Amino acid sequence: MHLPWISVLFCLLLALAAPTTAAAQQDDAVAASASSPSSPDASCDLPRADPLPRPGSPTAADFWNLFRAPLPPAPVYDPAGQRRVGLQAGHWQLDQLPAELHGLDAGSSGGGKQEWEVNLDLAQRTAALLEAQGVAVDVLPATPPVDYRAHLFLAIHADGDTSGDLHGFKIARPGFSAIPDVDDTLVNTLYTDYAAITGLPRDDDHVSRRMSYYYAFNSRRYCHAVAPGVPKAIIEAGYLTSAVDRQYLIGDPDLLARGIAQGIADFLAGEP
Ligand SMILES: [Zn+2]
Repeated sequence: MHLPWISVLFCLLLALAAPTTAAAQQDDAVAASASSPSSPDASCDLPRADPLPRPGSPTAADFWNLFRAPLPPAPVYDPAGQRRVGLQAGHWQLDQLPAELHGLDAGSSGGGKQEWEVNLDLAQRTAALLEAQGVAVDVLPATPPVDYRAHLFLAIHADGDTSGDLHGFKIARPGFSAIPDVDDTLVNTLYTDYAAITGLPRDDDHVSRRMSYYYAFNSRRYCHAVAPGVPKAIIEAGYLTSAVDRQYLIGDPDLLARGIAQGIADFLAGEP
């Protein structure tokens, strides 16, 4: 008879632990690693900060906090002419990472799929929908082009959760954004359209530091990153570890792609 209470307590502990765990993992994901090759990228002229602190070491938090301060305001990247969008398929082509991004993780898995496969499928379906509307689209791998610029950048991921209980989607913009109001508009537009079209619930409580300080946003640390004035966000389109969400991520990716594409189209049209 104690089992229900134990279950409730266990779920509560998991719920409380989730953000902490995500935060604890964050430095591993964005930091490349202390064991990364020391050879610099030929195209990279940012000041190097080697050796990187070991993840979890006393100096690691201070080191990464340097990159969490707000960027100075920047003009919004908005050249006239055809709209261009970068859709990053998270974790795709991890075998082609430059030295500065060495150590990025492979993401989640579920339903017989690796996360990158699901992300790439979503990115390609979204690209097709946008291209049909006259938008130029770059489907990008885990490594962004150096100092990448477009009218919008969206990193597409699918989440993982060891309990298998969490489901839903969430969206975030850089915590240090140079254009916070614009990025907020992008996030809100994506939230509204994705929720309306897919019917999936929002999972805002589990937006992690890993999302808000996503490596591809960190142009101060990495050459292979998106330039500060580019509107940018990251979406966790659903949980690959959730049987419910897999019905969408794997079973009906066109629906999810329509949600993402509508949000992007409305943002580009200035119709949040
Ligand atoms: Zn991911």
